[in-house]
Amino acid sequence: MTADGHFKVPTPVNEPVRAYAPGDPHRESLKARLAELTDARTEVPMQIGGERRWGASRGDIRSPHRHELTIAEYAVGSDKDFNDAIDAALKARRAWAATSYQERAAVLLRAASLLAGPWRDTINAATMLGQSKTVHQAEIDAAVESIDFWRYNAYFGDQLLGQQPFNDGTAWNRLEYRPLEGFVFAVSPFNFTSIGANLPTAAALMGNTVVFKPATQTLLATHFLMEILNEAGLPPGVINMVSGSASKISEQVLRHKELAGIHFTGSTEVFHGMWQTVGQNIDHYRTYPRLVGETGGKDFVVAHESADSDALRTALIRGAFEYQGQKCSAASRAYIPQAMWKQLRSEMAEEVEAIPQGDVADFRNFMGAVINGDAYSKHMSAIEFARKSESAKIVAGGKGDDKVGWFVRPTVIETTDPDFRLLKEELFGPILTVYPYADGKFEDTLELLDRTSPYGLTGAIFARDRHAIRKASETLVNAAGNFYINDKPTGAVVGLQPFGGGRASGTNDKAGSILNLIRWTSPRTIKETYVPPTDHRYPYMDAE
Ligand code: NAD
Repeated sequence: MTADGHFKVPTPVNEPVRAYAPGDPHRESLKARLAELTDARTEVPMQIGGERRWGASRGDIRSPHRHELTIAEYAVGSDKDFNDAIDAALKARRAWAATSYQERAAVLLRAASLLAGPWRDTINAATMLGQSKTVHQAEIDAAVESIDFWRYNAYFGDQLLGQQPFNDGTAWNRLEYRPLEGFVFAVSPFNFTSIGANLPTAAALMGNTVVFKPATQTLLATHFLMEILNEAGLPPGVINMVSGSASKISEQVLRHKELAGIHFTGSTEVFHGMWQTVGQNIDHYRTYPRLVGETGGKDFVVAHESADSDALRTALIRGAFEYQGQKCSAASRAYIPQAMWKQLRSEMAEEVEAIPQGDVADFRNFMGAVINGDAYSKHMSAIEFARKSESAKIVAGGKGDDKVGWFVRPTVIETTDPDFRLLKEELFGPILTVYPYADGKFEDTLELLDRTSPYGLTGAIFARDRHAIRKASETLVNAAGNFYINDKPTGAVVGLQPFGGGRASGTNDKAGSILNLIRWTSPRTIKETYVPPTDHRYPYMDAE
């Protein structure tokens, strides 16, 4: 027997952020877990159809701030593993789609509470070790944002199901929110553990089954996320985690007839490649695959002469250098009136030079290392490019040290060239380029920054003058999907500032909101007529 009820998903509240200050008992338990995981050399198999699998060979994951330290061994899958993952997703699809929404949401709500409680230290410690996040950066990402994604999505999905058509008294019209016909491919980036928590589960919540490919450098943390979901009761085959060569995985997945959607976060370049492959295969699919991608950014801060310069300086330092500038939302270009920059320049230089950086296990550090040797080389060569350029000067930082870890000092560059390369390209590192603009040229500068880079992710205006705020908001209407007034352009919170951008920054489907969940359903409209007509003729046809 089944019994019905209109169940209400609990209204979410944001998970409180723990401070981990000296004397806080959470600090000690987290440090203990960090020490355990440092020496554990954790094994990270794939998870396919509920089975743990070791593929063709193994790879190791090193800690970015101690690159000699192997923290995990992961499975390098073969084509057979990737095909098995697709088959497992397709096999699990029918039963999962037939599971009620409340039961699917209950899995996520239980996972959120497991992560908030017994798993919190593990997920944070794994993120600190694998992605070189400080305790605060790990806490706001791996623990808090993942929890918020799971709780808010459960709530938003329920709201979506409540979107129903009108009725005219002759029939009952209903919308059924079906999962997509096929499987969803979720691909997550290295820089946020919580994105790995969100991408596969948002689709799964709406009844889809998923092949999930996390970024290799996140595999330690993502392995534990999968364990949490297993413990929360996610059935085998609903999310199948694979690892190994991204291009080989893509090759199997993107040409599969049953590919029904891609939930991607990562670089613009990789998303372009996926879109092109889907385009080439378009005749081959059962259904048009939904393409959802949140991609790169070249996020800006623009100051008006009326700005509070202390607030501006703080926003620039936090916005550009927290997590080594490796947030898609990180401030990487700033436009500041020349008169204001004159004073701000030396204050910035002093504060930036004093930023403590090193092993994130030492809680006094504000910054850790960049993700790997390739990122290190890319950032150091961008700094060298600026050093050699006649139109640029290094104001702070400009150094690196790769002996123990991939450490790039937070770097501030100023340029006199509004088309300077580093004002346009995404670097994804701790490098902020400042263009001091001629005093009184605020409105021209807004136009300039709008056309300088192809991205449209985040941006901020600092001003006290209301007219300046309104003008910036109007001129920059398409320059950022997340626009900040007197705040840094990073730190969007699930449920409070839905996140995503347009232009080359993505499809702007706002992660952690109802707008994103819509993409993972294919609604069916049902009209049930109470008393159907029994004569095909209309009254206008009657004889006069
Ligand atoms: P990336 O594009 O190198 O990798 C992202 C994921 O794609 C990884 O799992 C990777 O293995 C996989 N991948 C790589 N090549 C692939 C291929 N050919 N086919 C399929 N998958 C492939 O990005 P990254 O270095 O991990 O992350 C940094 C990028 O992500 C930056 O550009 C950043 O702006 C962006 N990002 C955007 C947002 C957002 O919300 N807009 C959030 C976080 C990160």
